[in-house]
Amino acid sequence: MKKPTRVNHPPPVQVPTDNHPLVAPIYQTVKFEFESLEDTERFLRGERPGFFYSRAANPTTRQLELLLAELQGRADCLVTASGIGAIAQTLLGLTKQGDHILCFVETYNPSRYLIRRVLGRFGVRHTMLSIEDLTGIEQTLAAQKTRLVFFESPTNPVTKIADLGAITRLARAAGALSVLDNTFAGLHQHGGYEIDLYLHSLTKYASGAGDVMGGAVIGRAELIRALRNDFGALGGILDPHAAFLIQRGLRTYFLRYRAQCVSALRIAEYLAAHPAVERVHYPGLTSHPQHALAAAQMQDFGSIVSFDLRGGSAAARRCADRLELFALTASLGSAESLIVTAQMMGGRELSAEQQRQSAISEGTVRLSIGLEDCDDLLADLAQALDAAS
Ligand SMILES: *Cc1c(COP(=O)(O)O)cnc(C)c1O
Repeated sequence: MKKPTRVNHPPPVQVPTDNHPLVAPIYQTVKFEFESLEDTERFLRGERPGFFYSRAANPTTRQLELLLAELQGRADCLVTASGIGAIAQTLLGLTKQGDHILCFVETYNPSRYLIRRVLGRFGVRHTMLSIEDLTGIEQTLAAQKTRLVFFESPTNPVTKIADLGAITRLARAAGALSVLDNTFAGLHQHGGYEIDLYLHSLTKYASGAGDVMGGAVIGRAELIRALRNDFGALGGILDPHAAFLIQRGLRTYFLRYRAQCVSALRIAEYLAAHPAVERVHYPGLTSHPQHALAAAQMQDFGSIVSFDLRGGSAAARRCADRLELFALTASLGSAESLIVTAQMMGGRELSAEQQRQSAISEGTVRLSIGLEDCDDLLADLAQALDAAS
């Protein structure tokens, strides 16, 4: 074999079948081969297991899918290149022209854009309410046949809690699917509710390190089976190397999530007692208007703490600029603490009434609590709030 041939046909290394790596290898390959044409044909007819082309399936991404499904308490999962990719492909896979979606003012901006602008172009209609408006939800579902209810809990940024029991009951009675973007709550929460599909940005808590993007849709087997072909055709798959990094992140998911919740509660309590702060939004605080609902639905309240400064937007801007340990950028669930101001949150396309419902004020600031020592974070907040007020 000449060397230009050899570099394309390297010496194989076989790991004995009774000799296991503790960490599964990354199958960084697009193609898989069978021993014979007959086996290839049997695979393509669905008569034998195996892998063939990584856009359809890959062992590294498949292991992540099975793990995520188990964490969320469902049978199956599909992973994608980003969280919004999972949402886009799921909504495209579930809807057709003329269908109606019920969604909410408090929904993540790019998801609202997808429903209003992208699906709207294909004749998918929607109604947008406030997540607190259970009467409106009931009336809308009674008034028109609805394909799915798309919602989040806690909501971004002011951590409103969706009443999962009530919403899923109403959706089921109306023959609509319940689709929950569960990114803020995390993979270990809300599994006990009659949610048909869970969506996650794996970019956040799952990866945890802020260095890789991914998304997932999780649900019962027949729903995921129905989506699988469309996902293959839409093509927004997760790369095996990214899947490996996310799975590595998941090893410390519970430790990180719970440590961040402990710091988040301490910070929320500190802010609630601070004279410059008008109001704190954290579901773990007993003063949160829906604390009882949150405590009934969740084991952990998350790492997002928002608050409204008495000094409005000027105070929020000063506070954001003065913080040294909180990076001024989007996202959540990573090792570093982050801060976002109301002006960075978008929502400009909402009507005045919808903006009021979203409960974001000029002085709203959203913190994402990381893994730094909590005393350092509190000291940083203290000096920034001094400067802001
Ligand atoms: C970040 C986020 C997304 C989108 O995820 P990406 O991985 O950034 O594409 C969707 N929903 C929520 C609630 C998010 O916070």
